[in-house]
Amino acid sequence: MTTLDRTGAPTGAGEEPWGVEDAARLYRTDAWGGGYFHVTERGTIAAEVTPGSGRRVDLHEVVEGLRERGVSTPVLLRLPQILDHRMSELRRAFDSAIAEQGYGGSYRCVYPIKVNQQRTILDETIRLAGKLGFGLEAGSKPELLAVLGMTSEAPETPIVCNGFKDDEYIEAVILAAKLGRDIVPVVEKFSELKLIIKHSEAHGVRPQIGLRVKISAEGSGRWQSSAGSRSKFGLFASEALEALALLEKHDMSECLRMLHFHIGSQVCDIRKMKAALTELGYVYCELRRLGATGLDMLDVGGGLAVDYDGSRTDFESSMNYTLDEYAADVVYRIAKVCDEEGTAHPMIVSESGRAMTAYASVLVVDVIGSSRFDGLRTPEGVEAEARSSDETPQPVLDLLHALDVMNESSPIEVLHDATQAREEVMSLFSLGYVPLPLRALCEQVYWRIGAAILARHEREAVEGEAAPEEIEALRDQLSDIYFCNFSVFQSAPDSWAIDQIFPVCPLHRLDERPTRRGVLADITCDSDGKIDRFPDQADVKRSLELHELRAGEHYDLGIFLVGAYQEILGDLHNLLGDTNAAHVTVDNDGRWRIDEVIAGDSVSDVMSYVQIDAKQLRRSMRRSAEEAVRDGRLSVAESRKLMSFYEAGLEGYTYLEE
Ligand code: PLP
Repeated sequence: MTTLDRTGAPTGAGEEPWGVEDAARLYRTDAWGGGYFHVTERGTIAAEVTPGSGRRVDLHEVVEGLRERGVSTPVLLRLPQILDHRMSELRRAFDSAIAEQGYGGSYRCVYPIKVNQQRTILDETIRLAGKLGFGLEAGSKPELLAVLGMTSEAPETPIVCNGFKDDEYIEAVILAAKLGRDIVPVVEKFSELKLIIKHSEAHGVRPQIGLRVKISAEGSGRWQSSAGSRSKFGLFASEALEALALLEKHDMSECLRMLHFHIGSQVCDIRKMKAALTELGYVYCELRRLGATGLDMLDVGGGLAVDYDGSRTDFESSMNYTLDEYAADVVYRIAKVCDEEGTAHPMIVSESGRAMTAYASVLVVDVIGSSRFDGLRTPEGVEAEARSSDETPQPVLDLLHALDVMNESSPIEVLHDATQAREEVMSLFSLGYVPLPLRALCEQVYWRIGAAILARHEREAVEGEAAPEEIEALRDQLSDIYFCNFSVFQSAPDSWAIDQIFPVCPLHRLDERPTRRGVLADITCDSDGKIDRFPDQADVKRSLELHELRAGEHYDLGIFLVGAYQEILGDLHNLLGDTNAAHVTVDNDGRWRIDEVIAGDSVSDVMSYVQIDAKQLRRSMRRSAEEAVRDGRLSVAESRKLMSFYEAGLEGYTYLEE
């Protein structure tokens, strides 16, 4: 059994030597890494861009290399080869399911660009789309405009248009179809169909039309409400029938080419997906039977999950299936229904986004300091005075008593007594009956008791037996706070907004035993700006094993699997902007290189997003510095220094700089 120090971190005292395999086990890199991330023999983390190939790039080496080039943390490492691999894997999984099951249709993925619309990601997906027979999905008018423009050199790229559409959006789609683009507007609301018909007739176009239907089967996890009859999008069965009738009336029934559904992102339980697929299959066959003879594409939407915590369960941040299982189930369910109904197998389209991009980005943050509970000191003499004085309030004496007897009584009993005594001390303090030094003593005594209880629990615990809840809670209460130079709101917003788990692991020093436990706090002024949920074997752990900080040395942590949604959902809380980003590739000989560095936002950039004019600010500051010089409040040298600080600051990085 590992022994823990007073913070609950493994001490290593009298332990077996620590090795990098222990680090891999502790941080569970093999579980959540998807084969892409590994602990190296040097105690660093490497990305293997094609799992099994041995082509690895040492991420810590890259971060050091970036620093040498003047690119500081926080930095987002983008690994486009992982994106390539994910896309190829999707192709492979569906191709083999189709071949194995003798499926009569084909498969295509249309990448929903909302997942990550960065130009470089889109360039890469468009390049590969041609090779793999994939396309793009636009979910809004601006996304459509981006997709149309970016695919003008590859006009054969299939495009699916989802989301709410106005007259202008639909006319643009119809004109794009006239231009020769392979484009399918998906009707989300009945009124959109009328606009499609109107513009098609006006421009003389026979469009390909998709219908999104509401199905009764619900998804699972966070985005469960994307499906079901209360879902925001899609047509009820009666509306789908009405749509077919309207198309028939306009002699356009064969323009109905695609049936679409989306049961929500991150479907963690495959059973939900299977049920929904069967239902969709029947809707498809029925519509064909009722006259939609052109219908030949079934779009199963997104939802293919990512196992963020590596637990392989139906927990929200995980998934209880593999990519191959997903592909096999999609193909099987659709084939089964179509065979039963005697309908030809359609082309299967999926809109997998998260599963394509999540692994391809790692955010690297530097720890700038830590706060720890075992560092608390009480002014000398306070304890002795409290013990001897007749005026010491009873709860303070109770707490000191708990400290004295803690090795003789049951640890949980001591903890209960100490917790109660501490609460009473705090109430008395708020009523003015306990002076501040005594309160400080009580805090310190409480943490001392807690640390001793934890250590004792670890010594006496039976291997494999779960710790009582109070002990787990104590471990978290006693953990350190590691302050990191980043903003959760900008770089991992889902961690804050929906408690999404992202794996976190030091990028180096993994050949050293971590001796602390901590949570990560960002540099925003918001107490929510923290990461305190980490993947664990059985559950989520509320603190992470970390290394002691060393003066003058960087301590770099990687926040993994942030390639989906995080970049675009990130906000400008506290005016902390986009981080630096670097694109890293590795060649066949295992040599890595930085293909591109994209500088993060400067302060003046983020100011312009909120309509603050940096030039105007400079002028105002200069005016007030000049006035101060005139009035003798600042010397000329001081005013110059202030202005050069101010101007450099405006052009500088929004994050802390060395
Ligand atoms: N398609 C539609 C219509 C969506 O709304 C979404 C996201 O929620 C996706 C595809 C992408 O889903 P995922 O990232 O889970 O693959």
